[in-house]
Amino acid sequence: MSKNHPLVDKFEEFSTWYTDILQKAELVDWRYNVKGMVVYRPNIMYLIRRITSVLENLLIDSKHVPVLFPAVIPISNLSKESEHIKGFENEVFKISEAGGEKLREQLVLRPTSETAIYPMYSLWIRSWKNLPMKMFQVVSVYRHETSATRPLLRGREFLWIESHDVFEDEIAARNQVKEDLDISKKAFLDFCIPFLMLEREPHDRFFGAENSYAFDTLLPDGRVLQIATTHYLGQKFSNEKVFDINFLDRSGKHRFVYQTCFGPGVSRIAASIIAIHGDSFGLILPFEAANIQIVIIPITKSGEDSTRIIKKSIEIRDKLIEKNYRVKFDNSSDTPGQKYFTWELLGSPLRLEIGKKEVEDDFVTIFRRDKRFREKIQDLDLEKRINELKNEISNEMYYNGWTWFNSHIVSISNKEMFMKQSLDSGIMRASFCGRRECAEEIKEKTGFEVRGKRIDISEEPSERCFWCENESKRIVYIAKAY
Ligand SMILES: [Zn+2]
Repeated sequence: MSKNHPLVDKFEEFSTWYTDILQKAELVDWRYNVKGMVVYRPNIMYLIRRITSVLENLLIDSKHVPVLFPAVIPISNLSKESEHIKGFENEVFKISEAGGEKLREQLVLRPTSETAIYPMYSLWIRSWKNLPMKMFQVVSVYRHETSATRPLLRGREFLWIESHDVFEDEIAARNQVKEDLDISKKAFLDFCIPFLMLEREPHDRFFGAENSYAFDTLLPDGRVLQIATTHYLGQKFSNEKVFDINFLDRSGKHRFVYQTCFGPGVSRIAASIIAIHGDSFGLILPFEAANIQIVIIPITKSGEDSTRIIKKSIEIRDKLIEKNYRVKFDNSSDTPGQKYFTWELLGSPLRLEIGKKEVEDDFVTIFRRDKRFREKIQDLDLEKRINELKNEISNEMYYNGWTWFNSHIVSISNKEMFMKQSLDSGIMRASFCGRRECAEEIKEKTGFEVRGKRIDISEEPSERCFWCENESKRIVYIAKAY
């Protein structure tokens, strides 16, 4: 680490880099005195708001409506679906007292909201005319993680969006899963996040789901991070033994609805943007994710008249705001050098430098944060060039992200290759028998997890199971995970 690089190389010491960037860019403060719960500072909240707004718009465009359910769930609700309660009972925060008195029924802080929302769906849904019902909420959820917590990656409180959709039949519900996958893909395109789109193994499904699908991205330390999931629930929550969500169908018969739920992890998407794109100078934000896309810095010297520099800066700022860019004119008392340092740390994609020469010769110096490259552009060409740069930056960040990601997926055939490759971590691709015992043994002995099979392409296994050498059922991806 030189004095020009505020941070270490993230590929060499990811853990230090990640901790330092959260602190130096004033993103998160973990000194709050509840373990596993952190404070989100303004700089991360700007990023979170961008992420949320992209996802919310996609949900609203696909006919979802916003809703807000209480954060507490009566324990009897949570217990209704047997797999669901088994999965969550050891990680929920319980409230058993309020106002100095013991509660008649314990409440839990929502670990997820199926059991808060579905009893109300059972009251609201009467006939096929009420369907489909598609609702989402943007909330914090609470899970008492027992493994080590990391800010934004694994916490006891985290932000997500959850949508809960209800349909007349299985086909419509399964199509919703496809729509959820498309929404995620569109958002990850905006944020330049590469991913594997997987169906989780049967033993690894969401508690109470019939099928679980997930997006895994890869962080610089070679571990994968699940950033969104969508689940086909079928009638497991709607049947008469659970929440009894039934409706009068088009032929006048009572039937149970089919359901799906979708959860993009907002905190984890923020962590991915930080970790995948950042460098030793700080954050590098994709254009869509940046709260300030263009920062304008006047190069003024004390003792010199800066009137024309300020005037030109403000004119350019106003013109760019008119074109719908998110722009800031940094006229604070810091020196230009200090401002460069700060804005590189904060990751704004473009910086315009405007000094005496720029005023006299009618040009602007543009600095590109991702490549740390400067160019001079005539005033007349400025808007056109910024528009080009916006596309160039997005395309290159997307391409570079995917190139790095793909270069860390390695095919292996047997245990020996696995053991050798596992020293480097990253993602491995192998034929697998599909047996739970096999997956559990791999996890126990090596820390690696079978993450599932790809659903965007069809891949047929050509070898025996890489681990147990029994007949294989599918090609799966294996990695260490957060
Ligand atoms: Zn096996």
